[in-house]
Amino acid sequence: MRGPLDHKIFEIVAAQAEKLKVKAFVIGGYVRDHFLQRESTDIDIVVEGSGIELAEAVAGVLHTNVAVFRNFGTAMLRYEGIELEFVGARRESYRRNSRKPIVEEGTLEDDQLRRDFTINALAFSLQKDDYGTLIDPFGGIRDLDAGLIRTPTDPDTTYSDDPLRMIRAIRFATQLGFSIVPESLDSIRRNAERLNILSRERIADELHKILMAERPSEGFRLLDECGLLHLILPSISNLKSVETVNGCGHKDNFEHTLQVVDNVAAAGGDLWLRWAALLHDVGKPATKRYEEGTGWTFHGHDFIGSKMVPGIFKQLKMPLNDKMKYVQKLVLLHLRPIALVTEEVTDSAVRRLLFDAGDDIDDLMTLCRADVTSKNEYKVKAIQRNFEIVEAKLIEVEAKDAIRNFKNPISGELIMEKYGLPPCSTIGVIKEEIKNAILDGEIPNEFEAAYRLMESKAAELGLEPKSQTSKKK
Ligand code: ATP
Repeated sequence: MRGPLDHKIFEIVAAQAEKLKVKAFVIGGYVRDHFLQRESTDIDIVVEGSGIELAEAVAGVLHTNVAVFRNFGTAMLRYEGIELEFVGARRESYRRNSRKPIVEEGTLEDDQLRRDFTINALAFSLQKDDYGTLIDPFGGIRDLDAGLIRTPTDPDTTYSDDPLRMIRAIRFATQLGFSIVPESLDSIRRNAERLNILSRERIADELHKILMAERPSEGFRLLDECGLLHLILPSISNLKSVETVNGCGHKDNFEHTLQVVDNVAAAGGDLWLRWAALLHDVGKPATKRYEEGTGWTFHGHDFIGSKMVPGIFKQLKMPLNDKMKYVQKLVLLHLRPIALVTEEVTDSAVRRLLFDAGDDIDDLMTLCRADVTSKNEYKVKAIQRNFEIVEAKLIEVEAKDAIRNFKNPISGELIMEKYGLPPCSTIGVIKEEIKNAILDGEIPNEFEAAYRLMESKAAELGLEPKSQTSKKK
């Protein structure tokens, strides 16, 4: 097995540190990941002295550029796919209303003490006399072995100083399958309200990492148990309330949602499909009704949920871009395949689904399969079998009618040219008629048939051809 400091970059850093008469150490995630046998290409070097000077000296030897951030006292360079960040060892003290600490120069141990968790405070020496020695003053290795997330110092101080650490604790616990020690959990509960000094972007970054874990549900359950979830994503914590009327309860939508997210993760879903899974039922609390005879219903929760998506993205300062639209679309369509399963699978319903989902049809099917969380094995098997029928039908219809990237065979320009029309709503009316006829299977998805339909619809609307325009595509 390769040693942690086998790469020649470490020798170069060590030699330059010796030349500058400063002590340098490898610290943080790289050291942790070495013991977890995880590949890491991000290396943090902490220096008892100037991190920037050492970075500049190393960059000189490597003939590479260095990015210097004087305000932060850090410098960064890239070398053979590795990202090296240099920082001077520091001691930090915090004011109550800010994540920005007052920073003073410090020793390695001061620097380790300001780290968030013992497992992130491990360091390797780069000094000649003890090169490669592990420096672990806070029991980081003990906690790595036991699978524990613990702060190096008093948790109330650690979390209150920088509340992002509360979400990081949950993120690491979720990613690594670790437990947070009880004192830390209690402290997070006590300090939950401190989240309000954090920027929403930083919170969203951590949520993304929780979502990308193997079992994101663990992170969301922890966020909830610690009282953070309702501050970060109230619409998800609102899913928790289960009501009972006349002894009739409904499914716990929070637990159901977490199961769906885990299922999508297990199916290899990317970040945005996982977001869609997390948000697929957010419309349920607002649409919940109890009807005598029927029981609980959530009519329209797909539509209401999709309307809530931009607000949720905005609240976390996530961009309202095509990813948001994708999530919104999947939330809106998430009931459609299941409706096909329970009703008759007609060609026209399949064509409409293909038309609405477009290239996202496969992701939609993954979400729908993940959405089946019933404990009744017989029921689950029956639904999955029907999904197979729907999927076979989707392939068959797509091969025949090419609806997935539907483009109306008749363009607006052609209609305008043929009937001498300016841009106006009539063009939309004719195109809509053609689209619906294709989706309903009344005409094939072909130019000739569409052209004929255009002519008959135009005649019905009282339009006269401008002159004898030739049929052209
Ligand atoms: P990942 O790469 O998975 O995000 P990481 O710990 O390697 O995890 P960073 O977030 O870049 O990556 O952090 C690097 C190191 O800096 C950590 O290992 C930890 O020692 C320290 N650190 C990062 N954020 C904080 C924080 N908010 N408070 C204290 N120490 C922190």
